[in-house]
Amino acid sequence: MGREAVSIGADTFQFFTRNPRGSRAKELDPRDVEQYLEFAGEHGIGTIIAHAPYTLNACSADERVREFARQTLSDDLERMEHLPGNLYNFHPGSHVGQGTERGIALIADQLNHILRPDLHTTVLLETMSGKGSEVGGRFEELAAIIERVERKEKLGVCLDTCHVYDAGYDIVNDLDGVLDEFDRVIGLGRLRAVHVNDSKNPFASHRDRHEKIGEGSLGLEALRRIVHDPRLAGLPFCLETPNELPGYAAEIRLLREG
Ligand code: FE
Ligand code: FE
Ligand code: ZN
Repeated sequence: MGREAVSIGADTFQFFTRNPRGSRAKELDPRDVEQYLEFAGEHGIGTIIAHAPYTLNACSADERVREFARQTLSDDLERMEHLPGNLYNFHPGSHVGQGTERGIALIADQLNHILRPDLHTTVLLETMSGKGSEVGGRFEELAAIIERVERKEKLGVCLDTCHVYDAGYDIVNDLDGVLDEFDRVIGLGRLRAVHVNDSKNPFASHRDRHEKIGEGSLGLEALRRIVHDPRLAGLPFCLETPNELPGYAAEIRLLREG
C-alpha cells in the first residue's frame, strides 16, 4: 500500500483492516511492520488511516452482531498498536428502528469497552449521509456519542465530503458556515481526517454514492476549496472515489492545483 501511495504522489493512504465484507484478518508479520516503517520514513508518508469493515454494526438490535462488532474493533485496535500514532476510522452504525438515542447509547457503550488507556491510536467516527437508520448523519449525533465516552482523548471525527453533502451540509456554497457549525457542535480540534469524494446524488439526498472528483454534484472547485482550506491544513485527505490507481494519481494532481 505504501509503495502504491508513493507511486501516485500521495503522502498518506487509507486501507481496510480486513476484507470489508469478510471477517478474517491476516496474521501480522513483524518484519512487514519494520519494512513499512522504514519505507514510510524514507518517502515522507505521514499519518495513515485504517478503515474498519463497513459491514460492522456497533448498534445493531441483535446482541451477537454487536458483540461481533466489538470483537472486530478491538482486534483491529490491538493490531494497530504495531503502527502507533495512526487513525482508525469506523462507521458508527445503523440503529435499525431502535431510534437514534438508543443507537448513540449503544455505540458509546461499545467505545467505553474498547478504548483502553494504553492505546496509541485515535479512533474516528465517520460523518455519515444519514441513509436509512444510519447514526452520524448529524454533527449532533457524533457529539452525543463523544459526550458519553469516557476516554474522549482517544476519539476524533473523519469528515467525508460526499456524506456530509448528502446529509444536508452545504459545503459547496457555504463551506465556512459548515465548518463553523462543526466547530460549534463537535469542535474542529476533533477533526482528524477528511475523505475527499464527489457525490453521484444531489444535495441532502441521504444516499451515499461516491463519484469521481469533478464528475458529481460537489464539483472540482468545491473539493479544491476543501483541500486547501486553512482550517483543514495538515489533515490526511483520502480519496474514496470509484477509480483505479491512474485515476487516483490524476485526482491528486487535480486537487493539489489551484
Ligand atoms: Fe467509510
Ligand atoms: Fe468515507
Ligand atoms: Zn460513503
